Amino acid sequence: MQEKNEAFLDGVRITLRMTPQQRDLLRRAAEVGGMPVSTFVLHSACQAADLLLIEQQPGVLSPTVESLPTFTEPARQRWEAIPADIRQRLLSNVWCGCCRHEVTITNFSGTIKGRDLLLVGKCAECHGDVARVIEGA
Ligand SMILES: [Zn+2]
Repeated sequence: MQEKNEAFLDGVRITLRMTPQQRDLLRRAAEVGGMPVSTFVLHSACQAADLLLIEQQPGVLSPTVESLPTFTEPARQRWEAIPADIRQRLLSNVWCGCCRHEVTITNFSGTIKGRDLLLVGKCAECHGDVARVIEGA
């Protein structure tokens, strides 16, 4: 019963302000698509959102933390427990012995070593090996 309520609350109702021209356009498009205007708007917005997010992906220079290709399960859990802004900072100030300054780690994998989380990857600038240890609490 609890679950049912929560599922219900998950739906968010929003009101959109649009010009009569926009409304007319959407109504006609929805008719062609054979669905209610609200469904059409949501559907289109989600498609656009999907596209945008897909396009944004794998830039070597912007490691998407959420994709986590090569994390072991315990490492992933530890990593995801860290707030996103801190994770981003941890990834962007890794010392590269070759470049002699702080760089962004890319193509990294995560494992647990003892109590620590170990990230091993490549320097975004020289592509040399870099690593970061995140000490266990
Ligand atoms: Zn480097």
